[in-house]
Amino acid sequence: MAEVCEGDVFVCELDEGCGIEVKVTSVCGCVECDLVCCGKQMKKKDSCCDDSCCS
Ligand SMILES: [Zn+2]
Repeated sequence: MAEVCEGDVFVCELDEGCGIEVKVTSVCGCVECDLVCCGKQMKKKDSCCDDSCCS
């Protein structure tokens, strides 16, 4: 799973799921994030930053 940043948007793709979009407003950072909807892993739609600034 990719790292999660504040402002990231995750989507449950319509062809496989419901099409909902979820925006990250708070990140703990201490555990790996696992966003699942409709039984499928949600995909990152938009990112606040590249991976280098998240660590
Ligand atoms: Zn869904």
